[in-house]
Amino acid sequence: MSVQALSVPVAPLAALVGATTQVPLVDGSTRRYANLDIAASAPALEQVAAAVAQLTPYWSSVHRGAGYLSRLCTAVYEQSRAEVASFVGARADDVVVFTRNTTDALGLLASAVPGEVVVLDVEHHANLLPWQRRGDRIVRSGSSVEETLGALQAELARRPTALLSVTGASNVTGECLPLRRLADLAHAHGARLAVDGAQLVPHRRVDLAATGVDYLAFSGHKLYAPYGAGALVGRRDWLDTAEPYLAGGGAVREVRVEATEWTTAPARHEGGTPNVLGVAALAAAARALGELRDGALEAHEHALTSRLSEGLASLGIRTHRIWHDATDVVGIVTFSVPGRDPGEVAAYLSAEHGIGVRDGRFCAHPLLARLGTAAAVRVSVGLGTSSDDVERLLDALRTLLEDGP
Ligand code: PLP
Repeated sequence: MSVQALSVPVAPLAALVGATTQVPLVDGSTRRYANLDIAASAPALEQVAAAVAQLTPYWSSVHRGAGYLSRLCTAVYEQSRAEVASFVGARADDVVVFTRNTTDALGLLASAVPGEVVVLDVEHHANLLPWQRRGDRIVRSGSSVEETLGALQAELARRPTALLSVTGASNVTGECLPLRRLADLAHAHGARLAVDGAQLVPHRRVDLAATGVDYLAFSGHKLYAPYGAGALVGRRDWLDTAEPYLAGGGAVREVRVEATEWTTAPARHEGGTPNVLGVAALAAAARALGELRDGALEAHEHALTSRLSEGLASLGIRTHRIWHDATDVVGIVTFSVPGRDPGEVAAYLSAEHGIGVRDGRFCAHPLLARLGTAAAVRVSVGLGTSSDDVERLLDALRTLLEDGP
């Protein structure tokens, strides 16, 4: 495939802040940074930076003041909530609770579930540790999607379950599970479905109403917005009655020294002054992504990852997969270079070529153990990634292999 054929236009959304950043190389020269670590934190879209700049002169208290700026910030905050709900196809009676990130959103959900939970062993730690700590049931994933659905079905049939919580897209392999089938499976056993959308939401349109997903957790910083704002979106009843996640101002109706009457969700779980700028930025990212032509981002990513996988295979580099029959894979490719330590490969790519990738165990230790590798290198692409970035990576790896140990 020619380099030309790879460029599927996603403009104007490919406009990322810092896309032409120059970084120093070990030989003293500089080079444009090739950011192939978008899955860790995605750089801001220009629309997001503009939304933050627009609000910056006006920040003030929310839900607390009668002044003009307080009312403005309250309106921005609540408008952002409505935009985030619409971005993920929330049902009319769903609630959007703003959190710090996906980890925080799943922690909140774990504090609210009135019963047992089932998860897979191949999850990111954010969707594993809150449940492991509660003593919930961790099911061994199969080596195919079908086998995995079968294992989940058997576990759900075995004991009453309140919630099945799975990743929407693996942060290690990019592989996706079929949400509609998972929701049907959970519902058939009287359970609800929660999806860790940290890697799915930046890459695919998620529609809660259409897929039957009951809860969705995701992070702004993986969605081309800044750090510190994320969301849990989903069914209201558990969140209305759960123990307040953060006890404090804003989460209450009435406080007496003897006892407190808490309010309902979302405010019940948003004690303290919220991250209004982060939430406004998250909503701006949702707006910008919502304007993308249907399928444009998938086509862009698919062109890049196909070339990447084909190029890695031609260099004799093995890529990792969990499920051999996964039909949808987001823009993540993880691999091991024969005879090379992943940390050294990542350091070489950065120091000699100005390419940023991630190495290690990706907060998914049990999954890496299942893949039979102590660590690996992860490349991730998204809006703003160019075919030039991918060719630079392949050239750099070719040089590494040709130069020998
Ligand atoms: N879930 C998945 C699949 C992830 O990839 C990540 C982050 O890498 C998380 C959860 C946690 O996200 P955060 O660090 O924003 O809480």
